Amino acid sequence: MGMRIGFGFDSHAFKAGVPLYIGGLLIEHPEGLAGHSDGDVLLHAITDALLGAVSAGDIGTFFPPSDPRWKGAASSLFLKTAMEEIKTAGYKIVNIDTCLVMMRPKIVPIAGELRERVAELLGIKPGEVGIKAKTPEGLNQDGVAVAYATVLLESLEADAGLKKYAATADVDDMDAVVESLVGVQRDLSALGRKVPAFDADDLT
Ligand code: MG
Repeated sequence: MGMRIGFGFDSHAFKAGVPLYIGGLLIEHPEGLAGHSDGDVLLHAITDALLGAVSAGDIGTFFPPSDPRWKGAASSLFLKTAMEEIKTAGYKIVNIDTCLVMMRPKIVPIAGELRERVAELLGIKPGEVGIKAKTPEGLNQDGVAVAYATVLLESLEADAGLKKYAATADVDDMDAVVESLVGVQRDLSALGRKVPAFDADDLT
């Protein structure tokens, strides 16, 4: 099965008098993020992770800050372009994971909403989006928002092949089909682990 991973990073300084956009959400806060576009640090990191996963360069390749067309642009546009790139390359998103690092605003109260918005923009399920948040302890970067993102992609061809195989298989054979394709599934319950539900209180 063809899979690719991608990694993205971004940072923007806080600035008074501009709206704060994170993950496509307008967040009430006295300061926003300075940048040529809307400064959405999280969407920029995700965009770079997607582009990197298919070796398509980075956000600056497609949207150079020197180009006046992208002044004040909504970062969802950048994300959309990256999604078109991965589709053209023959891939789709399996899941993404992200980490935001900023002193304020606190992300915990909006983490659920953020996760849903990012999932909506990417056309995936909220359960396929990880949003974590940290405060920059000891980093002396209180006036800065930082975002990291990783993505996992799978080949559209592999996905289509799996669906076709599953559709023609006898239902009783399904366990054998899954085993033959992905190997024996580990039963995590035997290790005393349960599938954790998303809990915003876990975010620190
Ligand atoms: Mg940026």
